[in-house]
Amino acid sequence: QNTMKKQENILIIGAGLCGSLLALRLGQRGYNVTVYEMRPDLRTTDISAGRSINLAFSDRGNKAMKLVGIEDKVKALCIPMNGRMIHDKEGNTFLSNYSGRDYEYINSISRGELNGLLLTEAEKHDNVTIHFNKKCNSVDFEKTTALFQDYNSKEEFIEDADCIIAADGAGSALRKSYYLSHKFLFSFSQEYLSHGYKELTFLPKEDGGYKTYKNALHIWPRSSFMLIALPNLDGSFTVTLFLSYNEGEYNFNNLTTPEIVTEFFQKEFPDALEIMPNLVDDFFENPTAALGTVKCSPWHYKGNTLLMGDSAHAIVPFYGQGMNASFEDVVEFDKVLDQNLDNWEATFEAYEKNRKKDTDAIADLAIDNFHEMKGHVANPIFQEKRKIEMALEKEFPNQYSSKYSLVTFNENIGYREAMLKGRAQDKAILNMLTDNIMSSDDDLKDILDKVNVETEAILEDD
Ligand code: FAD
Repeated sequence: QNTMKKQENILIIGAGLCGSLLALRLGQRGYNVTVYEMRPDLRTTDISAGRSINLAFSDRGNKAMKLVGIEDKVKALCIPMNGRMIHDKEGNTFLSNYSGRDYEYINSISRGELNGLLLTEAEKHDNVTIHFNKKCNSVDFEKTTALFQDYNSKEEFIEDADCIIAADGAGSALRKSYYLSHKFLFSFSQEYLSHGYKELTFLPKEDGGYKTYKNALHIWPRSSFMLIALPNLDGSFTVTLFLSYNEGEYNFNNLTTPEIVTEFFQKEFPDALEIMPNLVDDFFENPTAALGTVKCSPWHYKGNTLLMGDSAHAIVPFYGQGMNASFEDVVEFDKVLDQNLDNWEATFEAYEKNRKKDTDAIADLAIDNFHEMKGHVANPIFQEKRKIEMALEKEFPNQYSSKYSLVTFNENIGYREAMLKGRAQDKAILNMLTDNIMSSDDDLKDILDKVNVETEAILEDD
């Protein structure tokens, strides 16, 4: 007997990016969905939608928007970013496209606007109900019940469901309940970077225009730290400083006065400082937050409970893929639902088995990209590699994709496959450049052949 009948009640914890998309999709599929969100409704309350005001949105995320039929509505919220604009210490800039194919670019999108849209679309379904200001304190995964507390009345109540899916982010209550229970073998790791981040802003020009080039992700790479900026629709940019808490001449622990913060920016990011008269206020008003990677397994307990999105796999933000991966989770889960397996346990198991290798891969790629962004993008040999890859993508659009393109624009292969192939290509190109076997002036077809042969050899060795 198929126990996953559509009348089943599914409880989702968290109405962030993943939870609201999941509610929408399961609502479309006809399930009875109830969502509990800790925060007030961000569409009607003036709260920050949480960490990071805007995000890089790309093809894997967009695949999920297509699945639920809101691609056009999301597009209206997007600002295309065609490449990285690198700013050196002297204020010189240079633009490095993300792909040699003109139609491939990433987008800057407002977290709040996107989350609000997903909530509104989910609520269009009568079988979806979203409750705000209700915090989950724990989950009894054997009984499939969750304990909530109302933010206003402080009253606690228990909700029962046929299955519970937690999309409550990096600090997940369900994951904590797994961890604390000792009732099954639950593996969990959390690794922090020594760097934290702080959000700042470039305000719009008086006429509402942009103070720096709009269609790029701006980076000020300074090897052990960096500043980045992504555009917003209102003409502002959200600027993020990634810096060590305690290492180096300047760090979050010693940037304690307006003078020293200004001195730091004057020395390292003079062109940014010029367009941020609000720096000191932002710096001392906005929190400094930590960055970490969470890996755990299993994600599910029998057919009762499942972790999805950041609750299952929080990653550092340097590949711009955390949200995209969380959206892709819903696409992959939906595919498993199409298989009509016998019950939730088989469904959760199949989903995790297929998905975890890919979320582990993007976690590792995101750490690699931390080093790439703050350092390598400014390194000559890396720039030569990028130049070659851009030329290959342009000349052979159907035959070559860089690691970045495989991860970001090639939504038809998983992150793991993208990682293995991309890393082998990187190694192949860098080796041949270092050994002077190849240069960017060579004939492009020769380069392509050499890179392919060398990549295959590396893949076979590994
Ligand atoms: P969240 O967005 O964290 O949502 C969780 C929801 O659950 C929230 O609404 C929260 O209020 C609610 N909740 C939490 N606990 C409870 C509870 N106990 N009870 C009830 N509700 C609860 N990703 C990208 O793809 N591109 C980027 O450019 C990018 N940039 C980033 C920059 C920074 C600085 C950071 C920190 C992250 C970035 N990410 C980016 C990652 C992205 O933010 C996350 O991967 C994404 O938000 C995950 O979605 P989620 O729904 O799983 O979790």
